[in-house]
Amino acid sequence: MTPLAARLAARIAADGPMRGADYMAVCLLDPEHGYYATREPFGQAGDFVTAPEISQMFGEVLGLALAQAWAEQGAPARVVLAELGPGRGTLMADMLRAVRALPAFAAAIEVHLVEASARLRAQQADRLQGHAPTWHDSVDSLPEAPLFLVANEFFDALPVRQFLRHPNGWCERMVGLQGGRLAWGLSPPAPLQALDHRLADTVPGEVVELCPAAPGILQAVAERIVRHGGAALVIDYGGWRSRGDTLQALHRGAPDDPLAHPGEADLTAHVDFEPLASAARAAGAAAAGPVGQGLLLRRLGIDARAARLAQSLTGAALEAHRAAHRRLTEPGEMGTLFQALAIHPPAQAPPPGFDP
Ligand code: SAH
Repeated sequence: MTPLAARLAARIAADGPMRGADYMAVCLLDPEHGYYATREPFGQAGDFVTAPEISQMFGEVLGLALAQAWAEQGAPARVVLAELGPGRGTLMADMLRAVRALPAFAAAIEVHLVEASARLRAQQADRLQGHAPTWHDSVDSLPEAPLFLVANEFFDALPVRQFLRHPNGWCERMVGLQGGRLAWGLSPPAPLQALDHRLADTVPGEVVELCPAAPGILQAVAERIVRHGGAALVIDYGGWRSRGDTLQALHRGAPDDPLAHPGEADLTAHVDFEPLASAARAAGAAAAGPVGQGLLLRRLGIDARAARLAQSLTGAALEAHRAAHRRLTEPGEMGTLFQALAIHPPAQAPPPGFDP
């Protein structure tokens, strides 16, 4: 048993079964034993490799896309460039390097990062020296200013609740104890207003997921974009309307039972883009997409950038560069599994790459 498993078992023995979302939150964010507090999840040696860690091109083309959106919105003199869950700071560093080509945008930028992990904040500080980032615990304290924001593989780390459709409503999947070990159980069925809209497209026996924190985050982001201008790009794996149990664990780089190694395994769930877009629209913003990551990166010019970088590479480095380009864009790799949603002011065109 991991130290966190023992603590969770004691808590469940005292208080009863816990929601899957609460379990996930403790596993990822517990300040002492949580995954993001204790592990180095990223990079070749970690549990997973994210797009910015695969190639600098990812951040470069996204940075230039935001710069173009800024120019199309009249080039405001002071803007917030923000990232949710910046990990090692690689995406932000690549964006900032690329936009040096547009000095007026570079000069207008103030960097703001929303990050829960103290350990990762220290890495981000290191990586972004010279840019004086400001850190936030949540989006609510982001400044009131034009907001250009990216979130890559952030929403998949937010806790989800899971519900099993029952003839008499919904049963929530709960983490309880069986023989002293963590085990899944079900709450008694009850109607749930938040899932009324799913009664039409599901049948008893099906599982759907809700990410309780996501709509509030999108609302705060969208409100700033409506009030001051800007654009947000949300990139993640997932789809439109969650269906089925998508909770997955990665432990030392291999798929794992989500209850087996609390705190030592990464836990993620597919992102449902529908409630994200709905929350943004309810706040008065427009939402465009989702567009597959491969298509978006191609529309933003990744092929030309890849060819340019290839000119100075040979041998194994050139092969690695080509493999990274394929990995980011091809359908069998991240090209279609990952999707991008854009939030923008209703009176403005969507950011580049999202044009209908
Ligand atoms: N965007 C990075 C890292 C993705 S991992 C990349 O693409 O490489 C998820 C990131 O979100 C980590 O930095 C993690 O610490 C952060 N995070 C997870 N849950 C969070 C929360 N509730 N609030 C703020 N940051 C969170």
